[in-house]
Amino acid sequence: MIDVCLLGTGGMMPLPDRWLSSLLLRTGGHTLLIDCGEGTQISWKLSGWSFNDTDSILLTHHHADHVAGLPGILYQLAHSMRTDPVTIYGPMGTEALVEALRHIVPRLPYQLRVHEIFGGDRLVLPGGLELEVLEVSHRITCLAYSFSLPRSREFQRDVAESRGIPVEYWKRLQAGEDVEYDGRVVRADDLLGPPRDGIKVSMVTDTRPTSELPQFVRESNLLVCEGMYGTEEERVRADERGHMVFPEAAEIARRGRVGELWLTHFSPAMQSPEDHLPATREIFPNTFLGPVHETRTIPFPEQDIVPRHE
Ligand SMILES: [Zn+2]
Ligand SMILES: [Zn+2]
Repeated sequence: MIDVCLLGTGGMMPLPDRWLSSLLLRTGGHTLLIDCGEGTQISWKLSGWSFNDTDSILLTHHHADHVAGLPGILYQLAHSMRTDPVTIYGPMGTEALVEALRHIVPRLPYQLRVHEIFGGDRLVLPGGLELEVLEVSHRITCLAYSFSLPRSREFQRDVAESRGIPVEYWKRLQAGEDVEYDGRVVRADDLLGPPRDGIKVSMVTDTRPTSELPQFVRESNLLVCEGMYGTEEERVRADERGHMVFPEAAEIARRGRVGELWLTHFSPAMQSPEDHLPATREIFPNTFLGPVHETRTIPFPEQDIVPRHE
């Protein structure tokens, strides 16, 4: 399963009643943060999530509302007694950016690594989360991220029992290893159930819609997507500034067949984003304003009953 917590829904600047858009993900005791604008450390505290188990910080791009809170976050991690390394991932130039920001937090009790990433990259993060990267269309280089947690095939104990395979071999078979005993080879493949769906969460912010986005977010259980402006009438402004209107985000969700869409990164001028929900839900019914400070757990999908062999 993956736990998810959105730390804010604001774009450009934090407001007294709206924190900037950042997202926390947690799986297997590993936490990662995506973006950290000004004030993110305070919003993070309000969420109740701990700082200490944070291995990774991902930056989508280098605008202030996505990075200005980094020194505070690094300081909070130090204050949480973290000593294990932390890696910051971000687009080209992230190394120089982090080096500059480190002037005000020069001494940290943990090793800080920087890993610059590019559209098309795929890597595995702590906790087994598979990260996929897509370059999107903003005024500066900006990256969208999708995180997939694969699920291993189920070990069918009843089949193992009915074939009389001793328990001491089960662990290796479960791990996909063929074993030999009593002069015969037992294939792991015969004892493992069919492939199972994993979990996918995507984060898309500060971009115009692009032709690749529906495929990139395809079948995400959750898509967190920017909606800087609410209505179609604001599309020209959104286009000029490299952002989206709510209906454009909903169209990506619809075409990508995602489970749920959370809108975020609202313009400070948008006072009542909820006013635009009904029209947006006509395009994609499962649309919500991003719930802030609520921890949501996304479980693996229910499995079909595996048919018995033999
Ligand atoms: Zn922004
Ligand atoms: Zn931006």
